[in-house]
Amino acid sequence: MQPYRTLNEHLQSRYGGKTYKLTVSGGVTCPTRDGTFGPKKGWGGCTFCDAFGSASYFARVRKELPVQEQLELAAEGIRRRFKAEKFIAYFQSYTTSHKEVEDFKKRYHEALSFPDLVAVDVATRPDCLPDEFLNLLPPLLKEKDVILELGVQSFNDETLEWYDRGHNRACAIDALKRSLALAKKLNKDSEQNPKGNKLDVIAHLIFGAPNETIQDLEDTAKILNEIGVQGVKIHNLHVLKRTKLAAMFKKNTFPIPTLEEYVAVVSHFLRHLDPEIIVHRIHGTPPKRDELIAPEWSKLRAYPAQQLQVFMKQHDFRQGDRLERRKWEGSKLLKHGLLVRNISQNADGKHTSH
Ligand code: SF4
Repeated sequence: MQPYRTLNEHLQSRYGGKTYKLTVSGGVTCPTRDGTFGPKKGWGGCTFCDAFGSASYFARVRKELPVQEQLELAAEGIRRRFKAEKFIAYFQSYTTSHKEVEDFKKRYHEALSFPDLVAVDVATRPDCLPDEFLNLLPPLLKEKDVILELGVQSFNDETLEWYDRGHNRACAIDALKRSLALAKKLNKDSEQNPKGNKLDVIAHLIFGAPNETIQDLEDTAKILNEIGVQGVKIHNLHVLKRTKLAAMFKKNTFPIPTLEEYVAVVSHFLRHLDPEIIVHRIHGTPPKRDELIAPEWSKLRAYPAQQLQVFMKQHDFRQGDRLERRKWEGSKLLKHGLLVRNISQNADGKHTSH
């Protein structure tokens, strides 16, 4: 048994077979790129995001294809390599609920008839949840499970500004609450949801901004516990080529956690997180290996999660154990130098833009 509630365990128990996500392009852009929202028109997206809107490499090259074809191409290799039996259509790149809601509706309808599809997963931003989009979810839920991923990234306004997100903590909390109110209603409404499908709301987070503190990790877990999200998806801050972050990193290098530090950070967060919350992912990988600038360990696919599991088992930690008892205080954690380094304490004494 793993020390935290993994997505694999959840998928196995819900769908009873090897279930994999197939990334589909929603064929949209996002408000931080086209200048709909944000401090100034066309300000070029979030600092960490590359020109492809966080899409996987394959989602980029297949984005012009019909949805069924995208799904089939993605499923082909996964069936062969992993003996996958069931699939989730993952509308990942850019901001799926941005503009063109009708177009998205058309695309998810195309996806619904894909063989062995059990769920549709939609990723978007907290400031991009118009009623027009939320109204698409009840009919979709009549057909399949739905996963709604919201790019919260941080609940610290200073960090959100550093990421150039164009939304703040209050906006993220409001979006999570609105989505969860809908999920709560639909998940037990047998008229609107006769098959008993599930709408799960997932918060996407990034750990590793230079100003982040241990307190931020604990506050984040507390907010998510209180709001009652069904899942979290954690990404480490990494620097990709052709991003604003790359330019900032080049100009004034900021500290990025080592793998050992990052493992301790995620472990600390998970210990404060409700054990019912499903952990969809604990780190991210670059869309293509040669697009990564730092840290090198971000190229590793399975190893960081394995290290996290070893670390938590060695210390007898598990998800949510700090909610029950205070057996291990911060002294050991601080020894790892976790994200408590303030950018102003850099060896070169320079400050970054935030
Ligand atoms: S992370 Fe999302 S919202 Fe930010 S620039 Fe990329 S696609 Fe747009």
